[in-house]
Amino acid sequence: MNERPIHVVGGGIAGLVAAITAAEGGAPVVLHEGGARLGGRAVGSAERPWVNLGPHVVFTDGALVRWLRQRRIDVPLCGPMVRGVRMLDDRGARFPFRQGLQLLPTILRREAPVDETFRAWAENTFGDASADLLCRLGGLITYHHDPGALSARFMWDRYRRTALSPDRVRWVAGGWVSLVDALAERARTLGVRIELDDRLTPESLPDAPTVVATKLSGAGRLLERDLSWPGARTALLDVATTADPGWPAVIADVRSDLATCCMIERETAADPAALGEEGGHLIQAQLGVAPGVGVAEGVSRIEDGLDVGFPGWREAVGWRRAQIVVDGTGAVDPPGTTWRDRPSVEQGDDVFLAGDAVAAPGFLSEVSVNSAVQAGRLALDARRRRAFAPGWPTAELTPERRLAVLAAVLPSAELTTTTVPGADEVAPVDETGPGYRIERRAGVTRATAATAGKGGVRVTRVVASALPGVARAAVERLPVWRRPFRR
Ligand SMILES: Cc1cc2nc3c(=O)[nH]c(=O)nc-3n(C[C@H](O)[C@H](O)[C@H](O)COP(=O)(O)OP(=O)(O)OC[C@H]3O[C@@H](n4cnc5c(N)ncnc54)[C@H](O)[C@@H]3O)c2cc1C
Repeated sequence: MNERPIHVVGGGIAGLVAAITAAEGGAPVVLHEGGARLGGRAVGSAERPWVNLGPHVVFTDGALVRWLRQRRIDVPLCGPMVRGVRMLDDRGARFPFRQGLQLLPTILRREAPVDETFRAWAENTFGDASADLLCRLGGLITYHHDPGALSARFMWDRYRRTALSPDRVRWVAGGWVSLVDALAERARTLGVRIELDDRLTPESLPDAPTVVATKLSGAGRLLERDLSWPGARTALLDVATTADPGWPAVIADVRSDLATCCMIERETAADPAALGEEGGHLIQAQLGVAPGVGVAEGVSRIEDGLDVGFPGWREAVGWRRAQIVVDGTGAVDPPGTTWRDRPSVEQGDDVFLAGDAVAAPGFLSEVSVNSAVQAGRLALDARRRRAFAPGWPTAELTPERRLAVLAAVLPSAELTTTTVPGADEVAPVDETGPGYRIERRAGVTRATAATAGKGGVRVTRVVASALPGVARAAVERLPVWRRPFRR
């Protein structure tokens, strides 16, 4: 039996997902976490793990929630709070009817260029006033001080996913610590050996298939190579108040002195009992700040928004925490780049990267999940290769290759491959995205694989049926309910 384990360095969301993926594949797994607790950035601090590190939400159409649901990992979600959103502009705080009307043209589906800045493209497409608002709203989803300076494609994709589908936004009840605890429980159930207070160094890195799931800067130090990608600098203010600050649930402060947006969220998910005597009501706020802006300056601008949104909050403060996080909110893509240009998951010598700033699709922690799933699978392949065929090249069983095998074994199967030029994403964009789906209907089996590549999206189809030609053509034309792609 092959008992040599896969090693995972880092016990945040990425490390836990990579460890579970590798353990589900049948490998023994050792997870090394440098701190005393699992969770990394998903857990605010050791003293108050239930207070997230800044406002944190999940998206029901995203890789994280989909991955949890596929495994029936039960994490309580609450929301959405669409009706509780207020926008604070130079005229005051209101339900965003006016802004909603102004942004109506953004409902139309269109492609944004990779090479242009979001600001330049949005000005040409929607006019200066709407572009200005769009750029500021970008702060909600990037935590960046100047979202208009980022790639138009990066911003536009994120804007459409959030602003046009706010009903998919959820809070994790009890804070992200409950998500981490659920992942840790699943990992332990699968037999993952979790070593806490176990910080690896370049010297102690094992000679084995290893997933490095630390922040990118930490991975660079550990692997002794240059690994970097732009991120954001963000001022965070958390306040527990003894009096209920009341409505609204979220305030997007888009006043014109900022190039970004300050988000103030009345955290509905934290357990009031956990906050104890310090106050049962938590307000969390974030503001992207430029290099050089310190904690005091960033936080005083956040407090200004709190004064308008929650008058009287200063007298009711039971506890507060102010800080700046650097590169803590995941990658941002500058003009001319996409997620594919970030440091690759495959690092050679059976070392794989996972985290929210590596080359994987998604949004915030979804990048950690997508890269972790890929890294976990690659580590499994590497382990099998080391054990059973050392020195032999291996071919990854890609969705396309799976369909080729299917076509070979199904009688009367036809296999076709076409490329959709220009397209570079497969929806839904997550670890189930570049995959395959199989549908069986009225005696016809149809399998489709879609893979995003440099020249566009390559679509491979297998159609197999014992029906005679005419009947088969008729069934082929029937509409089918499209299930998401899967691996
Ligand atoms: C203010 C803020 C708001 C955010 N909001 C959202 C949101 O709304 N939605 C969302 O999806 N995401 C959000 N995120 C991002 C999300 O928190 C992160 O993407 C996610 O937690 C990253 O997980 P990770 O496992 O990739 O990295 P980390 O959480 O950084 O985990 C890395 C782990 O590696 C450990 N480690 C480091 N070096 C070593 C070593 N040498 N040996 C052993 N262990 C080591 C660390 O201790 C840590 O536990 C937000 C982040 C911030 C800061």
